[in-house]
Amino acid sequence: MSQEEINSPKYQIPEELKGNLAITTLDQIYNWSRKNSLWPMMFGLACCAIEMICTAASRYDFSRFGMEVMRPSPRQADVMIVSGTVTKKMVPQIVRLYNQISEPRYVIAMGACASSGGPFKEGYNVVSGIDKFIPVDVYIPGCPPTPQALINGLIELQKKIEKESLLTVPWYQKGESEEIPVPVLGPDLIDLRRKDEIQSCIIAQREKNVETNNTGSEVTE
Ligand code: SF4
Repeated sequence: MSQEEINSPKYQIPEELKGNLAITTLDQIYNWSRKNSLWPMMFGLACCAIEMICTAASRYDFSRFGMEVMRPSPRQADVMIVSGTVTKKMVPQIVRLYNQISEPRYVIAMGACASSGGPFKEGYNVVSGIDKFIPVDVYIPGCPPTPQALINGLIELQKKIEKESLLTVPWYQKGESEEIPVPVLGPDLIDLRRKDEIQSCIIAQREKNVETNNTGSEVTE
């Protein structure tokens, strides 16, 4: 948003006051300041992270957009760039870190792996996209996305922030910003939000086994 846009609250300002007075809305000033000071969390998961590191370095330099302060602590960050293959082993850590970022917080799925599993989709150890566990604001395609693509994704996030309103943002709505239960890593990954569904599947399978046993057929697990 340019300086001119901040001074244009969509209603008429008398000609003699223009240039002497800045009139804006709370939404505009709030969004403008937040979108120009996004601090990404410093972590990477796989090859996409190398591209993210390049984007932060001098050639592409995303500090031009107010994002140079990459923080190693989720408590000081407000953007999570999921850059790389999301293995089942890493999901509990990613969800825990997401919960530790205070609102407002945003998530960017960088690359095919973070968006959908990419070349490893349906692999035994990989999840088909981080959006199965945490909400994603911007998806960046590519394997890997170039630094330009990441910068474009960050600009898209800025555009999204520009359209927010203090009246509707979830972090000011009571009960809207709840913690996501950290998935449990067992023989496979268990999403605790699907506990009831998993339980009813297990009960149905047991009943089926008992029935098969009673009829003397082969027991299937
Ligand atoms: S999308 Fe491609 S470059 Fe990025 S982590 Fe996956 S395999 Fe690596």
